Amino acid sequence: MLNENPRDGVDYILGGAVASRASDVHIDQVNDGLHIRFRVDGLLYPISNFMNNVFFLNDSQTIIQRIKILAGADISEHRLPQDGDFEYTSENRSYNIRVSIVPASHGEAIVLRILNRDDTMFDLGDLGLEQEQLSILKRLIATPHGLLLITGPTGSGKTTLFYSILNALNKPIRNIISIEDPIELRMNGIRQLQIRENIGLTFAKFLRSVVRQDPDVIMLGEIRDRETAEMAVQIASIGIMLVSTFHTFDIPSLIVRLSEMEIPSSIMAQSISGVISTRLVRKICPDCKADYQLSDYEKKFLGDNIMGLAGVSFKKGKGCAKCNQTGYSHRTGINEIVAFDESLRAAIISKASSMTLNQLIKELSGKSIRDSAISKIVQGITTVEEVIRVVGVV
Ligand SMILES: [Zn+2]
Repeated sequence: MLNENPRDGVDYILGGAVASRASDVHIDQVNDGLHIRFRVDGLLYPISNFMNNVFFLNDSQTIIQRIKILAGADISEHRLPQDGDFEYTSENRSYNIRVSIVPASHGEAIVLRILNRDDTMFDLGDLGLEQEQLSILKRLIATPHGLLLITGPTGSGKTTLFYSILNALNKPIRNIISIEDPIELRMNGIRQLQIRENIGLTFAKFLRSVVRQDPDVIMLGEIRDRETAEMAVQIASIGIMLVSTFHTFDIPSLIVRLSEMEIPSSIMAQSISGVISTRLVRKICPDCKADYQLSDYEKKFLGDNIMGLAGVSFKKGKGCAKCNQTGYSHRTGINEIVAFDESLRAAIISKASSMTLNQLIKELSGKSIRDSAISKIVQGITTVEEVIRVVGVV
């Protein structure tokens, strides 16, 4: 049984988090102890949804102190934000736990991010790409040069796509260098570099050095600033393949953002080989999936698409013990992918209107994120309600 040992307490919380497939653990101090939540499939739930024996967690100070010690943080500091990390091993699998501690009105708020989780998808076939999208992606990663960008908001599956592409490219014939922040998953055969902003080791600085490391492929965790963007397009235009993520909602806004970073449109057009825009939706729990009648609101969301959907039996999870009564289990991607062609390049160079760009991208991609979502609704993989939650009503 559990005892008062705080080491056991932290182990117990993390053990439960890993078993529940949580990506993060949120810990807040409340009057009568700790309020702990797990983020599972993108949403937060109280720890009591997953674990029964949480009574001992009332000893909040010892648990918080233990986390601080493990993370290498200062246990006597309560007023300033602190970061750290530690290794956690469970059933022969080791996880890197990134710790963020921030003082809040009620005491310290702690978030533990669990990296190297075993539900991470590596296979390009597991990303939820439609068949034609998968062929476009395979063609893009077979191109030995150019910049391949992954876009989407926070928590949209950019990292999963990044690692799946990295995994697909990972062959001994290629020298792959990956610059990351943080390294979420260690991969054999790849030179993975961790940026350290505090000593000036930024994405841009690493990028400058690694071009002299005879790379075939450079994986760049994220393009955040103009300097990195400038170097990335330059490198991509000299015959090296570069894959990176870019925090933006869709492909037209990516082009706008790069222009704002003063990347000349001709260089942008010539160096980008393709762009994937991605979101994650929760999948209906297979154990409680049942037929479901759409509400008027959901029908309205489908709009004109509803005409082609006569006879489709829509599905939804009723909620069961396996899915913690949520009706959902695991997630899949809904994506849009565009391989740049001469018509799109010419439109970017001539600074075509965003309407023209949108139209061209629509024609080239064949399937928008919305189309991809509707296809998953029709196949009974996800629900209208979930798609509205993720992409909004438009
Ligand atoms: Zn269920």
